[in-house]
Amino acid sequence: MSELHIENLHARTEEIEILQGVNLTIRSGEVHALMGPNGSGKSTLAYILMGRSGYEVTKGSISLDGHDLTKLGTSERAQLGLFLAMQYPVEIDGVTLQDVMNESSLAPEDFQKSIEEESRNLGLEGNDLKRGINLDMSGGEKKRMETLQLISLRSRIAILDELDSGLDIDGLRVVSSRIERATKEDDLGVLVITHYSRLLEELKPDKVHIFVNGRIVESGSAKLATELEETGYEKWTSSLETSVNLGGL
Ligand code: ADP
Ligand code: MG
Repeated sequence: MSELHIENLHARTEEIEILQGVNLTIRSGEVHALMGPNGSGKSTLAYILMGRSGYEVTKGSISLDGHDLTKLGTSERAQLGLFLAMQYPVEIDGVTLQDVMNESSLAPEDFQKSIEEESRNLGLEGNDLKRGINLDMSGGEKKRMETLQLISLRSRIAILDELDSGLDIDGLRVVSSRIERATKEDDLGVLVITHYSRLLEELKPDKVHIFVNGRIVESGSAKLATELEETGYEKWTSSLETSVNLGGL
């Protein structure tokens, strides 16, 4: 059983404060969806959880199974079982999937056998897995590749930042149902950042959180995601504007 615990998290770049008090707990087997307008800080939250440089945590805490993540580097966080599928996966020339797997604590024979089958299931058949990660892949192939890494590494908690962007309909279905299976069979915990409820048809969220201006402003059941498609974020952003206006009076 793993638990990622985020408490009153505030973070900033040199110029601006982006996260303004995030509270969230994700346990093994749970799926949490994070939805919010562009620029609200969702990717920043994902980066900070994984330890990207360039951001400063100014208040609050992040822990994974009792380990204070703010004191650890990115590879140490990964060793503890945290995984980030980035909104814009980077191409890494000279580093193969095999290299990444060798860095993990898994025995080579454990993953070698399943990796070909997983690749086939995820529609990556025919891609040379010995070439650099994501190198010269299409946007959708990169998202399938991120999923292959996540599954092969047997991560415990995964953050998926717009995994659906760039994926075609078949890819979306195959990727989201594979991750849903991991939540059931391997007890994977998931934080899925998305704009669309379509991803959440297969990967069923236990909770949906609305993220506006650097923090969660409302949490609810899966129904909230479909309601959002009709209403948008106006309810939350306009009340925010009102409070800002009132504050200025
Ligand atoms: P989202 O993923 O919700 O669309 P982001 O987390 O990417 O939002 O960005 C939140 C805000 O913070 C945006 O206004 C963005 O321009 C700004 N921002 C993010 N990272 C940096 C950075 N390294 N330097 C300056 N501004 C940044
Ligand atoms: Mg983003």
